[in-house]
Amino acid sequence: MTWANLQSRVSNCTACEISKQCNKTVFGAGDTAAKIMIIGEAPGKDEDAQGVPFVDAAGQELQSWIWEAGFRDPAEFFVTNILKCWPTNNRNPTVQEIMNCMPYLMEQVEAIDPVVIVTVGKIASNVVVADEFPSDLSMKSLRGDYHTWNNIVVRCIYHPAYYLRNKDEGIRLQAIADLVLAKEIVDGEKNLPF
Ligand code: URA
Repeated sequence: MTWANLQSRVSNCTACEISKQCNKTVFGAGDTAAKIMIIGEAPGKDEDAQGVPFVDAAGQELQSWIWEAGFRDPAEFFVTNILKCWPTNNRNPTVQEIMNCMPYLMEQVEAIDPVVIVTVGKIASNVVVADEFPSDLSMKSLRGDYHTWNNIVVRCIYHPAYYLRNKDEGIRLQAIADLVLAKEIVDGEKNLPF
């Protein structure tokens, strides 16, 4: 597998109906040598128009959290989503869509081999860390713990869109603290509990 080949398979994928409706597939953005992989749920309208993840208001909020956590170099991240196509009207991804798209994410994770994965929001977090699929565990129960996925440490953060709806400062501060922790892990300043 080469990265270009994977990109081309994603952009030509027709496994789901939404592939016919979306403008651009959103493969992901960032450095393929990144130590941190950020995994969101699915592209929205803005991401669909630009072909780039997290460019909407939620994405800008996430960027501000990343900055506040002390990151200064975009090359520290590779950012992608569970789904590479926009589920039109921003509905939740279906189980089948997630199953169709997961092999691409698995290949991305294998190629990048990050030190830490940060899942953003309830849907991405459930898909990546829950023992069962599908599952609907709350962010309250998922956030704050160390999880693993294919031997990679995973931390789950609240979705910035959730924060923007609720404006709960505690949620924002928790997410920033989680990103600080991710930074400490990649900087070798944190002893992992396993
Ligand atoms: N933009 C993305 O790319 N993913 C999300 O989960 C939300 C907004």
